[in-house]
Amino acid sequence: HAKARGRGRYEIFTPQLLEQAATLLNIELDLRGAQARGELAVHYQPVVSLLDGKFIGFEALLRWTHPVHGAVSPTAFIPVAEESGLIAELDRFVLRTACLQAVQWQRDYPRQPPLTMSVNVSGRHLQSLDLAEHVATVLSETGLAPHHLKLELTEGVLAAESDDLRRTMSALKALGVQLHIDDFGMGYSNLAYLQRFHANAIKIDRSFINVLGSDGEGVDLIASIVGMARSMHLSVVAEGVETQEQAQLLLQLGCEVAQGFLFSRPVPAPDAGVLLASEIMTAAQPAFQLQDSA
Ligand code: C2E
Ligand code: MG
Ligand code: MG
Ligand code: MG
Repeated sequence: HAKARGRGRYEIFTPQLLEQAATLLNIELDLRGAQARGELAVHYQPVVSLLDGKFIGFEALLRWTHPVHGAVSPTAFIPVAEESGLIAELDRFVLRTACLQAVQWQRDYPRQPPLTMSVNVSGRHLQSLDLAEHVATVLSETGLAPHHLKLELTEGVLAAESDDLRRTMSALKALGVQLHIDDFGMGYSNLAYLQRFHANAIKIDRSFINVLGSDGEGVDLIASIVGMARSMHLSVVAEGVETQEQAQLLLQLGCEVAQGFLFSRPVPAPDAGVLLASEIMTAAQPAFQLQDSA
């Protein structure tokens, strides 16, 4: 019978998996009206300087609370949104919300240099011709200075090398927004695109930070990524920093900017505001303090 033919086949027909498949099929349908029903929100995760523990800015991350299933992970719904063409609408919602928020925080928590806002842009969306125009509109409507916006693009997208992509990338560059390469190290290995598209920074993928430990694992790889970035005049951001030890190692390796649960999870805007306020109140004592490495 089924079980004898192998585990995979047998399990395909379990009620639980059938239910999961049905749930997946509904994601697209349910996502369509999610914004109108007020189910979408933007959460913010601090981007931190490892030199002094201060916030440099935030990354905006989309959150969807499904009326029946509750919180749905972006790793589940973003790919569906990309497949179905819904992604442009979602990215635009996040861009506008995040830019408005950045301007409000810059006003409420002034500092030098001003806080920046990082926003993810899907590859699908990047290939639409009016993206740069849309970004320009949002910047002028919200009043956020272009160089305070960091658009996060993944490597794979840039490998496409279409004329539309080239046009969009130079239009974005001309606007003066910063371009960050997200999940760096996961995909495309030809680095020429970093220079061709005038990237400002790379974000080392979480999977490389994960393995950073006392046994020396991962250190050589991070060191070579940082060295490469330096030679190309690119900044480096580490994502997924969870331990003091990882933060310490990164700083020793020359990576001075990081994001991760060690500092804060992505949180709703009011909570991020509280983090900013408390950072200012305790300016003499940074929220995050590196241990003395000597
Ligand atoms: P990403 O852009 O690489 O975002 C970082 C992800 O890592 C976020 O997951 C964040 O919550 C998670 N993270 C941050 N620090 C840590 C840590 O210390 N440990 C661990 N384990 N995870 C950490 P999230 O919010 O689930 O988003 C997943 C991905 O979904 C994002 O990866 C991004 O590719 C995509 N995404 C999220 N929001 C948007 C959006 O508005 N537009 C587009 N196009 N994609 C988005
Ligand atoms: Mg990102
Ligand atoms: Mg990332
Ligand atoms: Mg990532």
